Amino acid sequence: MKALIAAGGRQPRLVAVLVGEDPASATYVASKTRACKEVGIDGVTLRLPPDIDLDTLMTHLRDLDEDPEVDGILVQLPLPAHLPERQILESIRPETDVDGFHPENVGRMWLDKPGGSPSVCTPATPTGIIELLHHNKIELSGRHAVIVGRSAIVGKPMAALLLRENCTVTVCHSRTRDLPAVCRLADILVAAIGRPAMIGPEHVADGAIVIDVGINRINDRAEVERLFPGNRKRLAGFDRRGYSVVGDVDYHRVAPKTSAITPVPRGVGPLTVAQLLVNTLKASRRQQGLKS
Ligand code: NDP
Repeated sequence: MKALIAAGGRQPRLVAVLVGEDPASATYVASKTRACKEVGIDGVTLRLPPDIDLDTLMTHLRDLDEDPEVDGILVQLPLPAHLPERQILESIRPETDVDGFHPENVGRMWLDKPGGSPSVCTPATPTGIIELLHHNKIELSGRHAVIVGRSAIVGKPMAALLLRENCTVTVCHSRTRDLPAVCRLADILVAAIGRPAMIGPEHVADGAIVIDVGINRINDRAEVERLFPGNRKRLAGFDRRGYSVVGDVDYHRVAPKTSAITPVPRGVGPLTVAQLLVNTLKASRRQQGLKS
């Protein structure tokens, strides 16, 4: 990205819209703008008060969208409860929607042909996961991928992107019967649930590839000791911060069964940020009429 950006054209600009003071959201936005700086993207944060009304927020978004120097807009989720998330996401033009959440982009993603390359920006987390699998030369075609979670930001787009890679895809959710048995059918298991260490060895076939999307905080020291027995670094981190970040997979017990597994933290999280920058660069090059 650095080389492409330095090679010419206008500097890409990404505006992150942060409504309210949710500390986790502020941390995510800060890590996104920091990463922008690293590659030469102009990453700007527009901070808005938690009680902003819909009309004022929409006016801000319209102004950003009409600015020819803004290539990408992201609205950090979740929004305060009084703001209608879908209406807001739909108000951003598909061209500047670098999160890939606009219904037009979602529709195009599902309409893309298997084996083809994406015609629009697709959501950063699942797109980053596809990149990770490609980068590690993991064969996808014909393999069975099981996704646990059906959210619009992870589970569903993950299904669309794995289908495009010619995987056989199963999507599970809270009503799935006998989840461990369904998960054991997976060559590739993606956990995007939001429940700490829910996926245990009983969910995983020998030699499976496990991608852990979950980011969960646990505040109980005994639980950290149970999940990471003998891991002094984990406990030291917990003692410093008062919490530990864990995925949806019980890493310590599951990893020995797998042929590859992503850790939490420092697994899918940084990939998501990197993919957002790729999406911004693509949007910018498209906007400037440059080859992507
Ligand atoms: P959501 O809460 O939107 O979706 C969770 C999904 O998990 C739902 O589809 C839900 O089913 C399903 N689920 C919940 N409990 C169970 C259960 N007991 N058995 C089977 N399925 C279950 O979460 P997100 O998709 O937004 O996020 C998932 C996790 O990924 C979170 O920890 C989040 O923090 C993390 N995340 C990480 C990112 C990264 O960059 N690494 C980016 C985005 C998210 P149902 O639909 O039936 O309710």
